[in-house]
Amino acid sequence: MSLRRYGVELAVHVAPGRPLFALLAARTPAAPLFIYTLAAEYDLYALAAHASGFLLGTSPAEIPQECADRMGAAYLHRLLALQVHRREAMREVLRALPRAHPVTRRCGAEAQQRLANAWLLTSGYLIWEGRPDLTTTSMSVTFEGVGASIQCEMCRACFFERIEQALTAWAGLARTI
Ligand SMILES: [Zn+2]
Repeated sequence: MSLRRYGVELAVHVAPGRPLFALLAARTPAAPLFIYTLAAEYDLYALAAHASGFLLGTSPAEIPQECADRMGAAYLHRLLALQVHRREAMREVLRALPRAHPVTRRCGAEAQQRLANAWLLTSGYLIWEGRPDLTTTSMSVTFEGVGASIQCEMCRACFFERIEQALTAWAGLARTI
């Protein structure tokens, strides 16, 4: 007997808050693609959304044809669109430069340009890497390594202020379909 025949009943049993949902959700970290495919096949949106959060780093090439066929165009598109959206959003999150502080005798416009360049290089690297699954911790570590080498205290404060803004924006982005 096909599970599909019971698709409607299944949707009831696999609704959030039900034991079967909890069971499958708990298994998701170990087998997210399996769970996403299953959920998509039976249009179990909440479970698919849960699983999608574990598939941010899964490239289209890593999705076997059989899984793609079973999940169907709509759910495949949702997953890939989520990744594309996060990549584009990362550009936005990192676009603005750290603010400059008033010029002092020790730190003029030229020195502050180096700060801007440090931001551009680091954010350029992250954008080039284009990881939709990038965690705020990884983002933080990448920038803080650069920030720690900034000599001027005021520049460093501007840099870290900008990191905080970027981290908050990145953390606020949807991680699921
Ligand atoms: Zn400075």
